[in-house]
Amino acid sequence: MNTLNADLHCHSVISDGTLTPEELAVRAKAQGVELWALTDHDEIGGQARAAAAAAACGLDYLTGVEISVTFLHQTVHIVGLGFDVANAQLDQGLQKTRGGRSQRAQDMADDLARVGIQGAFEGALTYAGNPDLISRTHFARFLVDTGVCKDTYEVFRKYLTEGKPGFVEHRWASLKDAVNWITQAGGMAVIAHPARYKFSANEEMALFTEFKGHGGRGVEVVTGSHSSAESASYAATALEFGLAASRGSDFHSPAESRTELGALPALPVELTPVWALLADRIQRAPASTTALA
Ligand code: AMP
Ligand code: MN
Ligand code: MN
Ligand code: MN
Repeated sequence: MNTLNADLHCHSVISDGTLTPEELAVRAKAQGVELWALTDHDEIGGQARAAAAAAACGLDYLTGVEISVTFLHQTVHIVGLGFDVANAQLDQGLQKTRGGRSQRAQDMADDLARVGIQGAFEGALTYAGNPDLISRTHFARFLVDTGVCKDTYEVFRKYLTEGKPGFVEHRWASLKDAVNWITQAGGMAVIAHPARYKFSANEEMALFTEFKGHGGRGVEVVTGSHSSAESASYAATALEFGLAASRGSDFHSPAESRTELGALPALPVELTPVWALLADRIQRAPASTTALA
């Protein structure tokens, strides 16, 4: 069960990835992924396409999303898996969460203009496959392609992050709302890439405790943004808090992502994988397609 090649975190052109849902499904299958979820930021507009493409190439599928949350003045990402895509409350919550992105992007561009970088809003927008979902990643691509930085890693070292040009403080969804939207839609809420946050030990304890209190049930243990030591550390946290464990590459683009779809270590054997608890939410690929693949 823990050795299943599940990849339950990646992005398409519907948010800040560079591949379509169909291209991702084909790529995931070719990389040996057995269970897949597309988790665009604050947006489920790609879910029907992803599920159809998964079925067509013989991949089992879970619905997915990655919701932006503000917790103790930091941005935390909560992945939702296995929810009903037609759920109205989830849809409204995501619409509200996306709503502030355009103004934020204008403010980011104004701040970049302050240091002499002109036209960043219009520039970033040309990279956004979905104009409602303009993100820092699109600004990063603009800054690379205009020669301001050599790659997106340099962008996030010099720009767009706290204290650097182009950073704008933003208030996303609350932890409670994000977990509730996912849970009442029949899905499971999962804390994404916990090692990426800069919380003190007490703050992190508060995050996990409140998350559980709101009904959150999982944590990403093996992800493209964790070292093996970080995975080991959050494996212990999963056991401590009685959370199921998830696994996902956070793949965005063949040119930018360090971790390929499905190319991750297996989940530690002592953990309960999220897919064991979501068995009835998995959209199984038609048997004939699987047999042919
Ligand atoms: P946003 O939701 O607009 O704040 O954009 C967040 C996205 O920017 C993340 O999902 C990543 O794709 C990207 N990102 C943020 N920080 C970094 C970083 N340090 N290095 C590379 N990409 C990053
Ligand atoms: Mn992203
Ligand atoms: Mn994330
Ligand atoms: Mn992500």
